[in-house]
Amino acid sequence: MTLLELEDVTAFYGPVQVLEGVSLSVPEGGAVGILGANGAGKTTTLRAITGVVRTGGRITFDGKDISGKRPDQVAALGIAHVPEGRGTLADLTVRENLRVGAYLRKDRKGIEKDIDYLLELFPNLKARIRSHGAALSGGEQQMLAVARAVMAKPRLILLDEASLGLAPSTAKSVYEAIARLRAESGIAMVVVEQNANLAFTVVDSATVLETGRNALTGTTSELKGMDEIRRAYLGG
Ligand code: ATP
Repeated sequence: MTLLELEDVTAFYGPVQVLEGVSLSVPEGGAVGILGANGAGKTTTLRAITGVVRTGGRITFDGKDISGKRPDQVAALGIAHVPEGRGTLADLTVRENLRVGAYLRKDRKGIEKDIDYLLELFPNLKARIRSHGAALSGGEQQMLAVARAVMAKPRLILLDEASLGLAPSTAKSVYEAIARLRAESGIAMVVVEQNANLAFTVVDSATVLETGRNALTGTTSELKGMDEIRRAYLGG
């Protein structure tokens, strides 16, 4: 079943139209990539889903039209956003950041169980459980941002450029944990990445955006086989 569907979505910053008609379909438990150059509209597509930009077209989640809903309403429906730049709380410890992610939940035991699971998934965070957000490395902050999103028990995670600013080996281990999380949790994902090689370790299919439109869409193996993808995104 389709969990999230974007049909011909447009988006505007004030009078400026940035998305010209983007379509995207994420099956329940599936993972779909959004690739493309700087400024192509990847981040704006996530903002259209979370309701922070004015949009046109149709966005449905779990069969319900969510276009025009406020960000808090979208979050309450089970969509968690891990923004570019991570947004972890600098003055709170790792454990406190994780608890903040669960602020809408009441099941104390479940919350502690999920924290234990996430600390096992991200051993670096376990070692830094009492450290403040500000003291973490970029990779640790990215792991914490993902873990915090999971604490909300979402049905869908929107992940924006998780590799940004990280050393290649760190980015690789962040994506390994995301792939494992996906396999174990069944949480659906939209993965925005400039690094297609990393995105392809997690997603089943992807769309390439160019100036606010879908330029190419296909399964991961179809896209890997396309010359233009190899040249532009896979360094080949
Ligand atoms: P990046 O990797 O640089 O984030 P992106 O594909 O995510 O690229 P967007 O951030 O969605 O691209 O930006 C799409 C277009 O919208 C760009 O031309 C950008 O300059 C413009 N834009 C982004 N944010 C705003 C804003 N707040 N006001 C006006 N224009 C904006």
